[in-house]
Amino acid sequence: MLFTARYVLPVTSPHISDGAVLVRDDRIVEIGSREDLVARHPDEPVTDFGLAALLPGFVDLHTHLEYTAFRGLVNDLPYTRWKLQVVEREQVLDDRDWQDSAMLGALETLRSGITTIADITSSGASARAAVAAGLRGVIYREVSTMRKAEVPDVMSRAAEDMAAWLAAADPSLIRVGLAPHAPYSCHPELYRAVAVEAAAHSVPVSTHLAGSRDEYDFVKYGSTSFAVDFEDPTRWADVGWLPTGVSPVRYLLQWGFFDAPGIVAVHCVQVDEEDIDVLAGRGVAVAYCARCNAKLGMGVAPLKSFMSRGMTVGIGTDSPASNATMDFFDEMRFGMMLQRALSGEAGFLSAEHFVRMATIGGAKALGMDAEIGSLEPGKQADLVAVALSHSHQIPTQDPYSALVFTANQENVLMTMVAGRVMFEGGEWATLDPAEIKDRVEPIRVKLRG
Ligand SMILES: [Zn+2]
Repeated sequence: MLFTARYVLPVTSPHISDGAVLVRDDRIVEIGSREDLVARHPDEPVTDFGLAALLPGFVDLHTHLEYTAFRGLVNDLPYTRWKLQVVEREQVLDDRDWQDSAMLGALETLRSGITTIADITSSGASARAAVAAGLRGVIYREVSTMRKAEVPDVMSRAAEDMAAWLAAADPSLIRVGLAPHAPYSCHPELYRAVAVEAAAHSVPVSTHLAGSRDEYDFVKYGSTSFAVDFEDPTRWADVGWLPTGVSPVRYLLQWGFFDAPGIVAVHCVQVDEEDIDVLAGRGVAVAYCARCNAKLGMGVAPLKSFMSRGMTVGIGTDSPASNATMDFFDEMRFGMMLQRALSGEAGFLSAEHFVRMATIGGAKALGMDAEIGSLEPGKQADLVAVALSHSHQIPTQDPYSALVFTANQENVLMTMVAGRVMFEGGEWATLDPAEIKDRVEPIRVKLRG
């Protein structure tokens, strides 16, 4: 099948005007000008998207599909109080609720042109939703305990879940990993255990790190509401916590966490230059979650410092629980505007840079850039078509600017994963939006209490 559009954006090479992509089975076979490819493959069926961009599917480097039903529940609280509300309210949900919530997330993911997710889940609902939607992804089993004695048990239960999730998935699309939740909810021995396991078996790893100021103060000074309000709902009121005197990044360094290969650190807002040296030196990739960090008053990640050290950075939505939508265009736009507003001319970043972060950047962070993240012959056919023809978009001149400044998830025409069209023309290949929306309503009633 030949797919043609006004703009083809391979992302790792200059864009092609009036371009075409030849897809056979699950692979990209050829990329070039429409004229050339149509002439050389006269019998190949052609799908033309017109004034649109064809580009690699987005990689959402950090999300939690199972929290989608929390959208709009806690809107106007800063991070720690938001987190406490979420922890308290989530207790009322059962397995079926988590599953339905994750399905709503999967629906929006494909709608937004996301083809690969890096999802942290404790229930496994995200893994099942990804399989149902036909998404590619790394599904991280979340682990947490502040009790050292529980670490072996937590790790063995995680191993059982990971094996079960993998057995129920297509291994060519889904990988499983481990995610210690955050420094304020994991005993350092748990971080060490994850690093040992990851190094021994090449398990992908992700963790929330250096997000809020409260987390920083908790780790370094032993203070803030994490040391007070968080103990009861997370059941470690009897565990003593002492100041460590170091930043969250250096705290995890001391405990050997960065010995794990392939770490995706989420947020990295509360970091200084020395912290960034540590992360860069250990090859840690960062998930930039600009809207979540802003909405919850966490701060702004120092993107320019990451870039100056050549670190790998991708973009994450962190789920509608913290961010309201999974619109990846909005995520790129806001993330870019924020950096420009803060840094002025000195740190000016282009729209093209953000599209690369949203695609090949995320793929590199997950160690999957040989297979996905750009349109190249031999790579997996994960591609999206995005309309650039609406009144809020024309006239277009530069496709990267048009995507980042004018597009939104409603403009996605088609989302393809491994050569399979999973979303096109407002319809999902395997998901029923009406049924999913119906199932989410009772969850909202439960959550509101
Ligand atoms: Zn998160």
